[in-house]
Amino acid sequence: MSSLRPTLDFLLYEWLHAERLNERARFADHSRETFDAVFDTCERIARDKYAPFNRLVDTEEPRFDGEKVILPRATHEAHEAFVASGMLSAAQDYEEGGMQLPYTIEAAAGTFFATASVSIGSGMLTKGNANLLLVHGTEAQKEVFARNEFAGRFSGTMALSEPQAGSSLSDITTRATPAGADFDSDPLGPRYRLKGNKMWISAGEHELAENIVHLVLAKIPGPDGKLIPGTRGISLFIVPKKLVGLDGQLTGERNDVALAGLNHKLGWRGTTNTLLNFGEGKYPVRGGAGAIGYLVGKPHEGLRCMFHMMNEARIGIGLAATSLGLAGYYASLDYAKSRPQGRPVGPAGKDPTQPQIRIIEHADIKRMLLAQKSYCEGALALLLQCARLVDEQHTGTPEAAEEARVLLEVLTPVAKSWPSEFCLEANSLAIQIHGGYGYTRDFPVEQYWRDNRLNMIHEGTHGIQAADLLGRKVVMEGGKGLLLLAHRINATIERAIQQAQFAEDANALGQALQKVGAATKAAWATANPGEALANAVPYMQAFGHLVIAWTWLDVVLALPAASTRPADEGRVRAARYFFHYELPKIGAWLRPVETRDPTCATMPEEAF
Ligand SMILES: Cc1cc2nc3c(=O)[nH]c(=O)nc-3n(C[C@H](O)[C@H](O)[C@H](O)COP(=O)(O)OP(=O)(O)OC[C@H]3O[C@@H](n4cnc5c(N)ncnc54)[C@H](O)[C@@H]3O)c2cc1C
Repeated sequence: MSSLRPTLDFLLYEWLHAERLNERARFADHSRETFDAVFDTCERIARDKYAPFNRLVDTEEPRFDGEKVILPRATHEAHEAFVASGMLSAAQDYEEGGMQLPYTIEAAAGTFFATASVSIGSGMLTKGNANLLLVHGTEAQKEVFARNEFAGRFSGTMALSEPQAGSSLSDITTRATPAGADFDSDPLGPRYRLKGNKMWISAGEHELAENIVHLVLAKIPGPDGKLIPGTRGISLFIVPKKLVGLDGQLTGERNDVALAGLNHKLGWRGTTNTLLNFGEGKYPVRGGAGAIGYLVGKPHEGLRCMFHMMNEARIGIGLAATSLGLAGYYASLDYAKSRPQGRPVGPAGKDPTQPQIRIIEHADIKRMLLAQKSYCEGALALLLQCARLVDEQHTGTPEAAEEARVLLEVLTPVAKSWPSEFCLEANSLAIQIHGGYGYTRDFPVEQYWRDNRLNMIHEGTHGIQAADLLGRKVVMEGGKGLLLLAHRINATIERAIQQAQFAEDANALGQALQKVGAATKAAWATANPGEALANAVPYMQAFGHLVIAWTWLDVVLALPAASTRPADEGRVRAARYFFHYELPKIGAWLRPVETRDPTCATMPEEAF
């Protein structure tokens, strides 16, 4: 974790001026001192309770003893320390027992845990679950479920996916039927019985908390008894593993939610991942089979409620990907500084009588380190900026809040997906720097890669995010989001062009912006979604590179004039690397987008 803290300090205070958030009434009690105290605590817990056990949680996978899921003792201790720190409810109101911490600071603090051990976890699902209930739940649901989740008594899941329905949630078949004639008068919300299977549910079974609160998407059948096709029919339910009374105490009844099996994963093994059977009758409850669930919000509006949480969940995934990328960068930097191998090539070739040099002295190793730095610190800056926009959306003036909302619409798919792809590539480069040692379990970098490989898959796959960006986000509301982003990028260009050392990059960024704009139009020239979206992933790669290049240029503009700090030179070099080696790639990515190249879409199946 060598330079994470100074990097965060620079980005938060010298670039984003996060300390000025205390000018907002909500954050008036805060200052840089209180933010720093939060970082000190998180850094300490991550160093003592997370980092030493990252390999352990990878090798000691969760296991089921027929009754309980067993996790290493270290996971319990890390979880307890995390709960005791108050970070689960840090961003909540004082009345909720929270600290009213800005989301920007909460998000930044999360990187300490994720770089130390991403899969031990820092409550992302529990927070997301409880936050959703605060917005869409009834008073009783907030009191009984959300508040106990923020307090760490209960933990939370998001149960959307099913074995046959992952990307296409409209095809879920979990069924919810009213439970009894008085179903509508349950104080915890309209009561239903759920039946169905939920696949891939993270933290779906464990003993870390007293109870597990599943938030489950299911369909309420229409009057003909059939499930309504499409996303319209989807509703959202609270399904606790153990039933709870209005007083928040467990009633002693086990709900009909059964673990069908644990998934054995490539990485991220410290978190259990489960196939759950809801309502199969393994644990009959209150006289019958069917998991008891309480409706959240209105019937058929389940996805709308879920989408409320999507921006922050996706920023969370981007931060996890970035943190893993940074962890690999730091490990490979340390390794490169100490590994002697090879000799410099001079005009007369190599001199074998000379001692070997350390690999960090080879230009190709520096290339791989700079690539990692430019990907991971660029991604971190973008994500902190997105987190800052979330704060703006919640506490800014109405105009600023609206701008933040629109910008977040276009930036969120990038914030989730770009780090998932390029910080994973950073992990691959970290392995490469270690040579053969990187391919063994004696060094941590292979685990970072395996852990990171998840991020392109969950929370909307890469392909789905790309289709969302090109198919919806850049065209929605008359292209408002893209226009606003272009406006912000142009503002950075105008400032950069006035400084001789950044003028060339400013021009390159201007050209990249034009290219992305033209490609967006060309992709949609025939108004045929099939043609436009066939090349959505290369479009997203180019779009992401544009956004990261803009972010880097904006970051280096914040450096003090004539700075002599080595870290600032590092930032200027990483930005330059990105402009010289990465940004030019967008031409190749955009070419098939502009021409609506049908090579992939029209490939006959039998020709593979
Ligand atoms: C470790 C792990 C943890 C997870 N945690 C949770 C969780 O806590 N809760 C939860 O609900 N889910 C969770 N998921 C599920 C995850 O969100 C899904 O795996 C993901 O949405 C993809 O669904 P799928 O696996 O069924 O793949 P599919 O949807 O079958 O996709 C397979 C491939 O087809 C592509 N594809 C699918 N549809 C299209 C399309 N229309 N156009 C173009 N390409 C398409 C996809 O991009 C992908 O490459 C988790 C998954 C994993 C692996």
